[in-house]
Amino acid sequence: SAKNHGGDFCFYRAELNQRLHQRMQLDFDLRRALEKDEFFFEYQPIIDARTGRISAVEALIRWNSPEKGRVMPDVFIGLAEETGLILPLGEWVVRKACAKLREWQEAGLPLVRMCINISGRQFMQGDIYNVVSSALKENGIDPRYLELELTETCLIQNVEETTKKLGMLKELNVSISVDDFGTGYSSLQYLKNFPIDRLKIDRGFIKNAPHFANHRAIVDAIIGIAKAMDLKVIAEGVETVEQAEFLKARNCDGLQGYYFYRPLAEEPLVVVLCSQGDE
Ligand code: C2E
Ligand code: CA
Ligand code: CA
Ligand code: CA
Repeated sequence: SAKNHGGDFCFYRAELNQRLHQRMQLDFDLRRALEKDEFFFEYQPIIDARTGRISAVEALIRWNSPEKGRVMPDVFIGLAEETGLILPLGEWVVRKACAKLREWQEAGLPLVRMCINISGRQFMQGDIYNVVSSALKENGIDPRYLELELTETCLIQNVEETTKKLGMLKELNVSISVDDFGTGYSSLQYLKNFPIDRLKIDRGFIKNAPHFANHRAIVDAIIGIAKAMDLKVIAEGVETVEQAEFLKARNCDGLQGYYFYRPLAEEPLVVVLCSQGDE
């Protein structure tokens, strides 16, 4: 009945209001969290498939919320991109990564590359070149230890602008990798023109590769493209021995996933890096 519809509408509006309110609250909490320095990294090792040694770590952001405990990035990165908070938050990520590299270097740790995630809006709208170059300089970091992960969808938004920005970043001697590769439905043309070092095959393809011929074919094709273009290729989301063996047999260069390591807090990571340094 009409009456009922009115009731549904009111209910719907109340729910919308509630959602909006929750998002505004989260935005407010995130801004305060940045001021109060409540963000931190966990680090997931990336394995060199040939030697079995750790060749890099990916820094993954988390929020230590006083009310909610440890909050994962899927909860807040999307909102931070919508509201623009990703610009100062992304700057925090770059600076923190460089500060950690310096800290570990001063402590005499065997250093490996640190890979950080750069969001699309941070890359397109932010002053990414100045943020990265000043963070490197301030901490006296060898730029070859820093790698920027950019998603395929971000890179193909504006090819001209991307080419310019990547060229500048490349002059700093940092590495560039294409994250979530294979999900962006892009032409391969741009790969030739962009100064990139690595492709990271999206976890969705790795998941089914040992069981489904079509996923195997996609992984084979991506590895083939990477080799032909003289790029390194990393598989993410490696969870089983079957996946690891399949990827090694295909000469995938790097392996990342729960089968090897989950994202680690700083202390256990340092232990792992030190024990590898002794070998
Ligand atoms: P991503 O860059 O694709 O990172 C990989 C995600 O897969 C991480 O989730 C990681 O914990 C998870 N993962 C790693 N190995 C496995 C595995 O074997 N199986 C499964 N099921 N998952 C695995 P996490 O840490 O929740 O991060 C989610 C996403 O949040 C990241 O996806 C990235 O897009 C974004 N993110 C994380 N840190 C940052 C950051 O500092 N800045 C920005 N802009 N985005 C970030
Ligand atoms: Ca990533
Ligand atoms: Ca990824
Ligand atoms: Ca992803």
